[in-house]
Amino acid sequence: MTSKDIRKQFLSFFGDKGHKIVPSAPMVIKDDPTLLFTNAGMNQFKEFFLGNSTIKNPRVVDTQKCLRVSGKHNDLEEVGKDTYHHTMFEMLGNWSFGDYFKEEAIKWAWELLTEVFKIDKDSLYVSVFEGSDDADQLGIDQEAYDLWKAIVPEDRIIMGNKKDNFWEMGDQGPCGPCSEIHVDLRSAEEKARVSGASLVNADHPLVVEIWNLVFMQYNRKADGKLESLPAKHVDTGMGFERLCMVLQGVKSNYDTDVFKPIIREIEAITHKKYGADEKTDIAIRVIADHIRAVSFSIADGQLPSNTGAGYVIRRILRRAIRYGFTFLDTKGPFMYRLVNILTNTMGEAFPELKEQKQLIENVIKEEEHSFLNTLEQGLVLLDQVIAGTKGTEIDGRKAFELYDTYGFPIDLTALILSEKGYSLDEAGFEKAMQEQKNRSKSASEVSKEDWVVLADDVEQEFVGYDMLEANVKLVKYRKVTSKKAGEQYQLVFNLTPFYAEGGGQVGDKGYLEAPNGDVIYILDTKKENNEIIHFAKNLPKNLNETFKAVVDKKQRRRTEANHTATHLLHQALRQVLGTHVEQKGSAVHSKYLRFDFSHFAKLTAEQLNEVENFVNARIEGRLPFEENRKVPMKEALEQGAMALFGEKYGDTVRTVRFGQSIELCGGTHVKNTADIWHFKIKSESAVAAGIRRIEAITSDAVKDFFEENNKTLQGIKEVLHNAQDPIKAVSSLQEENARLKKEVENLLKEKAKNLKGELKNELEEVNGVKFLAKKVDLDAGGIKDLSFEMGNNEDNLFLLFGTEQNGKALLSCYISKNLVAERELNAGVIVRELGKYIQGGGGGQPFFATAGGKKPEGIDEALAKAKDYIK
Ligand code: ATP
Ligand code: MG
Repeated sequence: MTSKDIRKQFLSFFGDKGHKIVPSAPMVIKDDPTLLFTNAGMNQFKEFFLGNSTIKNPRVVDTQKCLRVSGKHNDLEEVGKDTYHHTMFEMLGNWSFGDYFKEEAIKWAWELLTEVFKIDKDSLYVSVFEGSDDADQLGIDQEAYDLWKAIVPEDRIIMGNKKDNFWEMGDQGPCGPCSEIHVDLRSAEEKARVSGASLVNADHPLVVEIWNLVFMQYNRKADGKLESLPAKHVDTGMGFERLCMVLQGVKSNYDTDVFKPIIREIEAITHKKYGADEKTDIAIRVIADHIRAVSFSIADGQLPSNTGAGYVIRRILRRAIRYGFTFLDTKGPFMYRLVNILTNTMGEAFPELKEQKQLIENVIKEEEHSFLNTLEQGLVLLDQVIAGTKGTEIDGRKAFELYDTYGFPIDLTALILSEKGYSLDEAGFEKAMQEQKNRSKSASEVSKEDWVVLADDVEQEFVGYDMLEANVKLVKYRKVTSKKAGEQYQLVFNLTPFYAEGGGQVGDKGYLEAPNGDVIYILDTKKENNEIIHFAKNLPKNLNETFKAVVDKKQRRRTEANHTATHLLHQALRQVLGTHVEQKGSAVHSKYLRFDFSHFAKLTAEQLNEVENFVNARIEGRLPFEENRKVPMKEALEQGAMALFGEKYGDTVRTVRFGQSIELCGGTHVKNTADIWHFKIKSESAVAAGIRRIEAITSDAVKDFFEENNKTLQGIKEVLHNAQDPIKAVSSLQEENARLKKEVENLLKEKAKNLKGELKNELEEVNGVKFLAKKVDLDAGGIKDLSFEMGNNEDNLFLLFGTEQNGKALLSCYISKNLVAERELNAGVIVRELGKYIQGGGGGQPFFATAGGKKPEGIDEALAKAKDYIK
């Protein structure tokens, strides 16, 4: 059975049982402060478990792109070393939101595995939560036990502890006991020798967990206590690649048709064989795995970068490059060459890969180039560290610096060191690493109290498309504390005119007014688990009153101008540059807008001009705002609206139209493009390979910008004595300046020539040396020329010149080469010693050296001492 068939069968099995088949949510999470990447199928459904959203489909089935490389679930270090953990993997899941519970979940899982997929029952084990005698005081999951007992022999049911059989998303939130299904892939002899039951959850590569059925029935509160959820849910997750391994009769995920083609390609590129040597195999597995994680992330719009999720991706890519570099002898970029085969194998199920193949290749190739440079630099730096080390142990902090500042992998450092006969102070490295982790953790740590619920209200209404003021009631609130913002309150209302940050647009600010006139400022608005959360420094006195919620109109109006301009800019770029342009990120603030898009070259001045004109023509065209708040997704796409990669859309979407520009958009906009007033591009730059960035301004900001420019121009005109044509005036000044410079140069040359003649006559014969120590009025270059010219014509010269330039002193010493040799004189030593008279220092070569200093009054004294050196 091919992996494609397996995926399809899973979906249709549950589809036939009344489940709606939904697409995977993006792997990169953009609107959840607690999570960078989707790490389980349940992430996208959190709002339903928490009861924040109305459940439209109580039964759902999907395959979810997951990435487990950071936070609570981090498998990175396992990947490549074992054969069944990946960074990026697909999690197949069936879901019940307040609908069926343990009975159906267990029955159907068993039916699918043993009857549809025909996995041998004797190779399966199931586990049940055994209860806990800690603070939670949970009993054994008897219900699950009894359900399993009806279909599985009792000796195949394993009691599991809290670590394995109680699933929690995080420190707070929905959780519950779970039943896992494990499969034993060992040979019959092995099975006879050691019982499979003893190997469950024991990290055996052939006795692995494939499916986890979680029964969500509790909510973990901030104080650690559990409360029962009002509705009970089912959340299951089955590792797709592991299932393929079982059904395709192989012993490693990497031997399935999901990975084999990629591995073949790696073999072809590197001329190494998979299966011949453990180290080579690990490297090949790491690369085959990581190319998926990196490609899917770029397809979701997350490029490698220096911070946050982008940094995680950069590290994954670098880990793969470095395995190739060390174990497969790859010396140049090679990872990008795997994108083609990946797209061929997975592009059908995940079309975002196919459509962005070129971009993914470009980005990866550029990253590879720059990391290989870093590696080279790192090797040089490491040599310096080694040279500066006494003994054979390298300071762990130095290694950490290489790792942290230059991205030089620590395992590579250790390897190189051992090859050179040095060792690494690992404890020191770990300590430095831990210190940094603590620093960044405490900076980002947020502690949240439980919500205080005042009224039950499932879904709040956002009324801010139509009004900027509304009467609201507080539904719930909680206190949150972080280092960055101190103590704040998060408020949720029954309805709100405040726009929550999203789709690139900033959250609204404003205030809340109580009936007695008391005011509370709303500092920001954000969305979390589909709830609109308002941030305030304090709470209203009387929580149950009706408040007037008022949005800061000025900020909102400017932000809207920028948002509408962003749509027009997007349209303009596709018009001017071509339809390969895709939005890759956008930030809509009140003061400016920023738009990232795929395009392969820098925009020319003409193109920028054209884009600006295109947008401004549509502003002048007074295009009205037309929206449709509830269009079926399919219909919206047919109308020509473009969906963004890496964005999550519902079944129905909102479309926003200005003339020919149609976008799927939840943001707020001007009522007519004329309200934008004017659009001005301020900069165009590169963000990554194949990604450009435009920053622009509109409305008031353009006025400010023109005023600022105008002021500068007035200033320039004034300085130019109100010249009619300042450009002409400046260029004629420049010409004049160039001419004068040339003249001065000639005069100086002349002067030096004359001086040479004069000075020749002043040479004094001291101890067989032609000696001169004198203050001259030349700059450093002039003195050097003079000295060398004099030296060209005679031997036995000892010259010391002093000069004062711009309040600073300079000493310059020239000694003929024959004297340097015969009398062991050294100009470098001499200027350094004489430098003390001018409070300075310097150096150079034995026959010519200079010293600069802060004390021109000392020049005479220094000159007076010169003769001592030849006496
Ligand atoms: P394991 O103990 O093997 O790490 P887990 O307990 O972390 O698994 P869950 O969080 O329950 O796994 O995830 C559900 C399913 O997803 C697992 O049964 C497994 O089949 C699959 N899975 C989990 N982590 C990975 C991974 N890193 N790579 C591939 N599949 C995975
Ligand atoms: Mg795990």
